[in-house]
Amino acid sequence: MITLSDTSLDDLVGLSHKIGAADMDCAILGEGNSSADLGDGTFAVKGSGCCLGTMGPEHFVRLYREPIVALLEQDIPLDALQEHYRAALVDRHQLRRPSVETVFHAMALSLPDVSYVAHTHPTAVNALTCAPEWRALLAGRLCPDEAVVLGPDSVFVPYVDPGITLARCIRDEIDAYRVRWGSSPKVVYLQNHGLIALGGSATEAFNITVMAVKAARMRLGCLQAGGINPLPEAVVAHLLGRSDEHYRIQQLAAS
Ligand SMILES: [Zn+2]
Repeated sequence: MITLSDTSLDDLVGLSHKIGAADMDCAILGEGNSSADLGDGTFAVKGSGCCLGTMGPEHFVRLYREPIVALLEQDIPLDALQEHYRAALVDRHQLRRPSVETVFHAMALSLPDVSYVAHTHPTAVNALTCAPEWRALLAGRLCPDEAVVLGPDSVFVPYVDPGITLARCIRDEIDAYRVRWGSSPKVVYLQNHGLIALGGSATEAFNITVMAVKAARMRLGCLQAGGINPLPEAVVAHLLGRSDEHYRIQQLAAS
């Protein structure tokens, strides 16, 4: 079990409870997972089958990050994955299995400015990721607050098998985003699956999640009102270049 004195773990438990709360409609039963960098080459990730809304620190598994990231370069059958996870446990006596999505968490936590990862299956977001024109429906920014919290653009990952295959696809799409924008993305949309929020703090990961859910609801409303009309790219770029918006971004993530 990970100790309660770890502040990052306390923040991770709080984040998990908030994104797993019933009224958020982001995850039910064992859906979704969350993780945090613990700052010493290790990270904590949700145990497989645990419920985000009610989990305690004992439901997280602590692993060394580098050996998990290295799995991205190896050809490992799904059945053998847990064996590799076990080899990276900080506490070899830990019996709880980490989430099957542990590889993408380790990869995401290796990115600059990412210390917390929140993966959920929000109903409103999946109403769009499961639609035929899902990329077009989720593209762009509808209003200044969506741009401020979610950044200039999103990452889109086509449906693939969960596990290492999905982690590799997410890595490749994030790499392309970083080349395009020069920074880590805030939000990743997974086709027919859900949402990943990448935060520098637990607060930021939560803010990204709730903004992505609101943005999805707005899009669903726009479709009923005649269509989606995003802000022009130049307007989004202008908004994100404003010093007052930079201040607002920092305050939102820190509060
Ligand atoms: Zn998922």
